[in-house]
Amino acid sequence: MPRKTFTVDYCDYCASEDKEVEATDTIKINGKEALVCDRHGAPVRKVLVEFEAVAAPITQAEGQRPVTPGRRRSKPAAAASELPSGDVIRAWAREENDKAGETIYVVSETGKLRAVVIDAYKAAHGIS
Ligand SMILES: [Zn+2]
Repeated sequence: MPRKTFTVDYCDYCASEDKEVEATDTIKINGKEALVCDRHGAPVRKVLVEFEAVAAPITQAEGQRPVTPGRRRSKPAAAASELPSGDVIRAWAREENDKAGETIYVVSETGKLRAVVIDAYKAAHGIS
């Protein structure tokens, strides 16, 4: 007998609340993945868009992580390419804080770098 079987993926977030909600997307970060419904996918996508706005590409020289082919969005290299990775800017900001002996720039371990920190970095390094 001909048979067609459908698989329905459920949102991992909803599943952790004992709810069965159909997943509409898969989010993969740092080698982990989660199925998400629209509601749970939205905030993650929002954060990723914000990340994309400030993140600089990891070059083979400085990055330890291998570049996964086909997953990078190519962007025309502009002034943004002069900006180093967030880690470099964070390290610079911490150094400035140490030199000053007080917190001039608030930097978190991860997450979005504050525009004021990026602007200060650019100003200090002659990046427009
Ligand atoms: Zn959900």
